[in-house]
Amino acid sequence: MDLLKEAFIKALKFAKKNRILVRFTAFAIVAMAALVISVVSCGIKVGYNVNYCGKNIAVIDNAEVFKDAKAKILLSLSDKKGEKEISSPKFLPVVTSEDNLASKDQLADAIIENTESLSSSSALTVNGEVLAYANRAELEKLVDAALCKYYVKGAENTSAFLDDVSIIDSYCLNEDVKTSKEAANIVNKLKVKTVSTVTSESSVKYSTKTIYTSTKVRGYEKVKTKGVKGIKTETAVVETLNGKETAKTVIARKVIKEPVEKVVIKGTATSMTSATARAQAKSAGFICPLNKGSIKQISAYWGDGRNHKAMDFSGNVGTPIFAAKAGTVVSAGWDGNYGYAVVIDHGNGYKTRYAHANALCVKKGATVKQGQQIATLGNTGRSTGPHLHFEVIKNGARVNPAPYIGY
Ligand SMILES: [Zn+2]
Repeated sequence: MDLLKEAFIKALKFAKKNRILVRFTAFAIVAMAALVISVVSCGIKVGYNVNYCGKNIAVIDNAEVFKDAKAKILLSLSDKKGEKEISSPKFLPVVTSEDNLASKDQLADAIIENTESLSSSSALTVNGEVLAYANRAELEKLVDAALCKYYVKGAENTSAFLDDVSIIDSYCLNEDVKTSKEAANIVNKLKVKTVSTVTSESSVKYSTKTIYTSTKVRGYEKVKTKGVKGIKTETAVVETLNGKETAKTVIARKVIKEPVEKVVIKGTATSMTSATARAQAKSAGFICPLNKGSIKQISAYWGDGRNHKAMDFSGNVGTPIFAAKAGTVVSAGWDGNYGYAVVIDHGNGYKTRYAHANALCVKKGATVKQGQQIATLGNTGRSTGPHLHFEVIKNGARVNPAPYIGY
């Protein structure tokens, strides 16, 4: 357009100087005007080919477009080091149409494409500062992964960077483009705040209730109701910074299953015999087979819930064991689970057994007096600690020894 105007003005000046040619000039002016009108109406105009590094890369309206495109590129680069990378082009006039003219942005892209040391890239910016240049898809993938990195599995999660992080289209020097690994290292250093609503489940302890009963002997213990743990849930909002907890607020606690109380029945009676039976037993004339002072503890009673048909007295190994009544030794020696044991026949259908002895003082067939030492207390046979296992046998059946020996 400018060129046409210039030509038109020149023609006019020429015509003024050369009056002879006025007629021709007038014709030329008309022709020129017609040309201008036709050019304008058809959209045909004069533009400039941008010859960049020996190659025509775009057609532009005027040299300003190149200046603007260059300024845009330099603004994108991290510093001014790209300035010398962009060569000065040649502008060659060319008749073109309005549609063919490249915009500033199009020219900038064309310059980048034709500049070996520069490329289109995306910039990862943090608070406006470029941290890395890399491929956009690569950066987006890394950023997305960084945001999910500290999510709690099974929880409702939201996350955000602590700083203002964005990915913008940019240009950069090829040497500044980061590899995936380098970009990942940079993204991984960003601070991520994650808020997770976590619901966790834990057990609720059950309590134990003991019911004491005099209808059972001491040592009797039976679980009436099995204890069952309950279940509770706790919902908390947990805030973390790069996975490290910074705050936690419990927003709900709920028992979703109540525990079941354990109920235990324990016996308190020393002997489960009637007054008549006790009097009868006493009249049988037995004495305690140990000096009561040497008994540490009655460690088991008759019928304590494990079919224990005897009484156990714990004491020190070597404590003397005496015959509960006069009689004849019917067995003395090793007797399987009883360990070293003595059985005395007292007549009238009564026998007594003394088991788990450490040493025996009598032999089978011996006659013993009441209160005579027959063995020493021990821990032989099936025994979990030094004790005397004492049985009273009446007509071949074991009976509760307690009432016979004053318990
Ligand atoms: Zn026993």
